[in-house]
Amino acid sequence: MDRIIKILHLEDVPTDAEIVRKKLKTAAFQFELKLVKGEDDFKNALQEFSPDVILSDHALPEFNSIEALSIVRGKGLKTPFILVTGAVGEEFAAAMIKQGADDYILKDRLERLSSAIINCVERYQAEAKRREIEEGFRLTINALKDYAFLQLDKNGNIVSWNSAAENIKGFQGDQIIGKSIADFYTDTDRENGVPEFNLKMALAMGEFNPTGWRKRNDGTLYYADTVITALHDDYGNFKGYAKIIRDITERILVEEKLKESEEKYRKIVQTAQEGIWTVDENNIITFVNDKLCEMFEYQKDEIIGKPSTSFIHKEDKQIALQAIGRRKLGINENYEISFRTKSGKRLWTYVSASSLLDRNEYKGTLAMITDITARKKAEQETLSLLERLQLKNKYLNQFAYMVSHNLRAPIAKILGLASIFKSALDAEMIMQKIVEETINLDNVVRDINTIITARDTTNEITEPVVFADELKLIEQVFDQYISESNAVITSDFQQPGMPTVKGRFYSILYNLLSNALKYRSKERPLKIHVSTEEVDNFILLTVRDNGIGIDLNKHRDKMFMLYKRFHGDEIPGKGIGLNLVKVQVESLGGRIEVESEINQGSSFKVYLPKKYRSKITANMNGVFLIDDDKLCNAMHKNVVLKHMAPTKIEVYQHAGHALEDLKRIAQTQQEEFPGLIFLDLNMPEVDGWQFLDSFEQLPENYLESCKVVILTSSINQNEIEKSKTFKTVHKFISKPLTAEKVLDLIND
Ligand code: ADP
Repeated sequence: MDRIIKILHLEDVPTDAEIVRKKLKTAAFQFELKLVKGEDDFKNALQEFSPDVILSDHALPEFNSIEALSIVRGKGLKTPFILVTGAVGEEFAAAMIKQGADDYILKDRLERLSSAIINCVERYQAEAKRREIEEGFRLTINALKDYAFLQLDKNGNIVSWNSAAENIKGFQGDQIIGKSIADFYTDTDRENGVPEFNLKMALAMGEFNPTGWRKRNDGTLYYADTVITALHDDYGNFKGYAKIIRDITERILVEEKLKESEEKYRKIVQTAQEGIWTVDENNIITFVNDKLCEMFEYQKDEIIGKPSTSFIHKEDKQIALQAIGRRKLGINENYEISFRTKSGKRLWTYVSASSLLDRNEYKGTLAMITDITARKKAEQETLSLLERLQLKNKYLNQFAYMVSHNLRAPIAKILGLASIFKSALDAEMIMQKIVEETINLDNVVRDINTIITARDTTNEITEPVVFADELKLIEQVFDQYISESNAVITSDFQQPGMPTVKGRFYSILYNLLSNALKYRSKERPLKIHVSTEEVDNFILLTVRDNGIGIDLNKHRDKMFMLYKRFHGDEIPGKGIGLNLVKVQVESLGGRIEVESEINQGSSFKVYLPKKYRSKITANMNGVFLIDDDKLCNAMHKNVVLKHMAPTKIEVYQHAGHALEDLKRIAQTQQEEFPGLIFLDLNMPEVDGWQFLDSFEQLPENYLESCKVVILTSSINQNEIEKSKTFKTVHKFISKPLTAEKVLDLIND
């Protein structure tokens, strides 16, 4: 021991005191000794000297060790107390120890004194340390405001508690002692044995963490987050439990409120009549509601996780990418865009998009999507109606102009002639003039009729037109003229034909060719080149000549007006040809352009839309021929090419291959889906019926625009009946396919 031990010695006999001092001097520790002889000195010394150990003789004249010990303990001091006496009885010694003396030593056996002092002081110090730690722990536990701490006995009855427990449980001090922990559970929990269960679990697992509603002293409820720990002594014997409780009612209520409002919004979103989706910062879809799935015709899991752009209609991809860019800048906006549904339909929508920002950082987009397909269709119809009305109006104006100028001139002349007729002598000459003017009048009326008929499209049929055939027919008409003028007509039909209104196409080419022949240059032999090619969604027909050309700087505006002519009357003509061409081109949904240089030549360019359909449509986009017989295929292909002029023709010996191609076309949308399929029934591997089964699984919009014509060697009634179960089967035709049968089909 390296510190100085303060020893208070109670002894009235000086020699005995001296003996003790001497003995202490031989001890292995340093000490400071205070000797007192009576009660008052003893009491003072306790206070002022504050000894580490007390040595006490038993019997003093007016004082004794029993009294001394009770003074010490009475003050709450735990200072070690060693009796140093002459011989005392065993019983007395035992009684002293019981009262709190730490040891006793006989005056004639003082050898043990120093070791007894060291033992006692060390034990005292260890005790004091333990008490200090315990006190610290107790203070800490009490200082915990939010954590109730309870110590429970083995049966779950409370033995100690901290002040937070009083607050949480609503008890005052000792009231809580001895209460069973079960008293704080709700009635239902108690009936269900929850308190016992929790204690058992803590005992079995060492620690258990139950949560739930618990009762305060006044019966009100709070939500407790609890840790119950089973306690054991140093020998592993179970002593009871420690229980720490935290009142998390507020948090739970907030969480419940949050859950409630989340639930409310979830319901609103799910039952909304608009499609709703969210995408993350990488534009991946993270949420969709039921309505959106319904609109897109997909299941939720087919949409979530995919980029939003994969559902955008291909024509609107650019709009979508630009919109995403604006979202990243935090710009919210409403716009129209179209999507592609699972079955391939175009879904027009009105989108309200808002950026989702977290501390100014783009985290994604929330979009409300409304289906406006019906409105869009109506709008488009109104628009095209408006366009048609505007066009009609324009023609009517021109018509009115033509009527006023061209009808009035001959009428005025006739009137003038008639007025002089009364008095004139030269009746025959006047009569002659009246006839001439009446013929003029008749011609104008005929022209008017031609133009009016050119605009009437009600009874026209779209049918296959082979450009080379039409050119040949017209060349025959001008045969004599061509050979006389040594004109050379060349052609290059990169696009061999198209479905269109044959009569109109013929008239367009006829007028352009006749002009090219008429307005040739005398300075060089005439060359005319007729060509066709595909440009975007149009077929471009060009008629180029090396004739006298037109001064477009002067005449461009009037090029296609009625009765406008630009080269005097040397070359006969009426000035209605180009107007007629323009009317006809526009009635087919196309447009006409002209390029020309004086004395170099002219080019007339006619753009006809590939997809034009008149009210009565005889033809279709492409044709598929499916027959395992090679010879039949070759023959039928020729007939179809010649008489239908389809935009494309594909020939298959295996129905399976045709199916694969059709599925691919429907999926990728890169190529045109056929409008007509000629199908043989008896084929190996996949026969006609099996083909129809799979074919009719394709999206509805493709099936709507495609007809299947069954081609068989012999037509049998059973098969006709069976074919009625397939909605795409249009007709039964017996092999071989001939020109008449094709024409029948077209006019069907
Ligand atoms: P027409 O030939 O009966 O006069 P069109 O309406 O066909 O009437 O043509 C109008 C005018 O355009 C012609 O009078 C002519 O001046 C000019 N024109 C038409 N085609 C050509 C051409 N290929 N080369 C030069 N001028 C042409």
